[in-house]
Amino acid sequence: MSLFSRTPHIQPTLAGRLSNPTSRRRKRVVGNWKMYGNLALCRQAVPLLAEIATADVDLVLCPPAPYLGEVAQLAHGSHLQYCSQNVAELADGARTGEWSAHMLADLGCHYAIVGHSERRLHHHENDVLIAAKAKACVQAGITPIVCIGENWVQRQTGQTEAVLQYQLGTLLESGAWQGAIIAYEPVWAIGTGIAATPEEAQAAHRFIREQIAAHGVAAAAAITLLYGGSVNADNAAALFAMPDIDGGLVGGASLDTGAFLRIYAAAQAADTAIHPAVVAGALQYPGQSR
Ligand code: PEP
Repeated sequence: MSLFSRTPHIQPTLAGRLSNPTSRRRKRVVGNWKMYGNLALCRQAVPLLAEIATADVDLVLCPPAPYLGEVAQLAHGSHLQYCSQNVAELADGARTGEWSAHMLADLGCHYAIVGHSERRLHHHENDVLIAAKAKACVQAGITPIVCIGENWVQRQTGQTEAVLQYQLGTLLESGAWQGAIIAYEPVWAIGTGIAATPEEAQAAHRFIREQIAAHGVAAAAAITLLYGGSVNADNAAALFAMPDIDGGLVGGASLDTGAFLRIYAAAQAADTAIHPAVVAGALQYPGQSR
């Protein structure tokens, strides 16, 4: 019998646990170079990122796959982590042009982006495949960063929550969400220079956390939710100050090492600040008793 079950009056509420600085979610900044960059950029940027990365706030780089090995070597011995932009759903097989989560683990890779909107659009990836990829990652010890988000028409017609719920559905059913990071990336904000406002992003993150809470309140409180979509050095601080935003997935701005490091600095600053709503214990989730 646990201490808490013997003394229910001190059962910790979720809000209470969120307000405890020692159990706060860690911040993360993930840079997605997409299909940009080259070996020279790797050799220029990675040593700088490796020097600045700390153990407290995760700094993660997703170079194009051909450069992952080089980045692994350049980052060796530092706190800089690296991430694949894609992964197969299978452990191995006759799948020319694909690579598995086990291979990424072999390389010391920490994460794989799964279900980026560009892969949904250009490679016709659907939620079933995305959940299978996430599951393969978790099984291989790689953290999947699963991207979800609505397009502009869906937002304009009030379907944002329905889209997020639908995209999350298969992932939640598969169980692969346990061990995943979820990136809320509104498609209309990706590469457009028009980021969601901190309030819009917070509302979506809050909704996502509530959906997850239906599968486990403590896990919902612990899961990392990243915002992606035109994050830059000017808007990062306000986004990262939101209570349910645990960092960012950064595309274009990550190709500029100076801008990317300013975004990282914003995450570090947000990491040391506790949001007033958290301090006040004002955040509640379905199923949570106060
Ligand atoms: C992305 O590639 O996931 C992304 C969010 O891109 P950008 O920051 O350029 O909008």
